[in-house]
Amino acid sequence: ASFCCSDFENLQVLGHGNGGTVYKVSHKRTSAIHALKVVHGDSDPDVRRRIHREMDILRRTDSPYVVKCHGIIHKPSGDFAMVLEYMDGGTLDSLLKTNGTFSESLLADVARQVLNGLNYLHSHKIIHRDIKPSNLLVNDKMEVKISDFGVSKIMCRSLDPCNSYVGTCAYMSPERFDPDTYGGNYNGYAADIWSLGLTLLELYLGHFPLLPAGQRPDWATLMCAICFGDPPGLPEGASEEFRSFMECCLQKESSKRWSALQLLSHPFLQKESSCSSKSNN
Ligand code: ADP
Ligand code: MG
Repeated sequence: ASFCCSDFENLQVLGHGNGGTVYKVSHKRTSAIHALKVVHGDSDPDVRRRIHREMDILRRTDSPYVVKCHGIIHKPSGDFAMVLEYMDGGTLDSLLKTNGTFSESLLADVARQVLNGLNYLHSHKIIHRDIKPSNLLVNDKMEVKISDFGVSKIMCRSLDPCNSYVGTCAYMSPERFDPDTYGGNYNGYAADIWSLGLTLLELYLGHFPLLPAGQRPDWATLMCAICFGDPPGLPEGASEEFRSFMECCLQKESSKRWSALQLLSHPFLQKESSCSSKSNN
């Protein structure tokens, strides 16, 4: 579809990020609600590179587990914007703050959906590289979708280990700091699985798992925790299936980590989905 900015009425600001500002907008003719991610034409080259990468990737993806891009707007001023599927539940990060920690069955629902998304991306040779609670969006049906592809990578032709420093370093896997020690058979996809493992653990614990609650992360502490510490585990009270699932995600050696496809058949995800049982009532 082709859009222009005057097609939309601005309703509210949804979020700010490195990439620009995201607005909730209404399409004037159809009243459809969308999210509009706007980037200024005069923003620095790095920001522009990120947004072009994101547009490039969203154009190639079509999955119920990845936020849809309905169109792109180029303004004469040089600003541009992406018309995105609106996710009215916000991010998993905001959901954690408002609703508190996630139960195991809710986490299994989240994990299943994100893994379906990652399996789709990885089989299309796309590595997200910035999986974390604030880049996973939810809607009122508790559907979870992967968003924010600003630092993602398309693995075309070369088997580039893509070790450039991108993404939020807190969720970065050991092999991205130290490919020699942890990167046997390194292909990049496993880094998304590590980040997903940390994300799920954070939603379960209520704080970033590699640091004591409340501690502000700095780069050196994180690097030490990720590379030299044991992988974070679960407290008492967690089920055996959940424990085993987290171990499969949080293997420090990347080649031992399970793939998205393997994890989709892990026993932790085989329990009946709590969402589908809710909707049956
Ligand atoms: P950045 O690259 O700047 O982090 P994001 O794409 O992550 O940009 O968007 C920043 C914030 O805007 C998100 O954390 C979220 O709160 C909000 N947001 C982004 N996309 C959507 C969307 N499709 N629906 C609802 N909110 C969104
Ligand atoms: Mg983001």
